[in-house]
Amino acid sequence: MTVLNQIRLILILLLGASFGSFLSLAVTRTNARTGICFPASHCEWCHHFLAPLDLIPILSWLFLRGRCRYCQHPISKLSWLAECSLGFCFLLIALRYPIGSWHIYPYCQATLLTVLALQDWTTRSFSSWCLALLALSSAIVTQRWLALGLFILFWLLLDKCAGRLRLIGEGDLLFFGYVWLSSSFYQTALVIFIASGFLLVLGFIYHPKSRYLPFIPALAMACEVVLQL
Ligand SMILES: [Zn+2]
Repeated sequence: MTVLNQIRLILILLLGASFGSFLSLAVTRTNARTGICFPASHCEWCHHFLAPLDLIPILSWLFLRGRCRYCQHPISKLSWLAECSLGFCFLLIALRYPIGSWHIYPYCQATLLTVLALQDWTTRSFSSWCLALLALSSAIVTQRWLALGLFILFWLLLDKCAGRLRLIGEGDLLFFGYVWLSSSFYQTALVIFIASGFLLVLGFIYHPKSRYLPFIPALAMACEVVLQL
């Protein structure tokens, strides 16, 4: 691999990590009903504005050992996890496709999957528009229009049964439907299997306050691994 190509891969990794950082901030601020762009990035505890050195994706959190430089309060791992996962997703996509090509769809898919994961992690729900956009773009790319029709029927059926299902969340079932739409039954089963492993790791790294552990972040990561490897 040439030096130029190595630089290109590092830049793509940093681009993905920067998107992950921004999406984490956007989802957190949207949940708190505050502006996405203003105020500038700051510590939630001492309100000190962050310097450029505090904002380097992936690395700043590691160098600061997960603590604010100014007040030493622990910083949430959520942003760092989003930076790592989207950064490495972008890297996987760049490694999969030939040098010089720029397949925009897998990058958009990884970005939207990260939005779903962040929303589910922070609010235990996700936006329908985000999943609808993923399903529609997948059907456009794969040309599986019949599968899209079946997915919409499945969605309507789940909507009708909303609140009556006790074993698993409707959102998780819808996500299984999306994975099937963008791949196959075999890959859907593989995604669920790998996601179960990721869920154990996520539970170990990041202890949520409630007993319910959101499945979509693990499913989104597994989806990227299965679709891009
Ligand atoms: Zn602070």
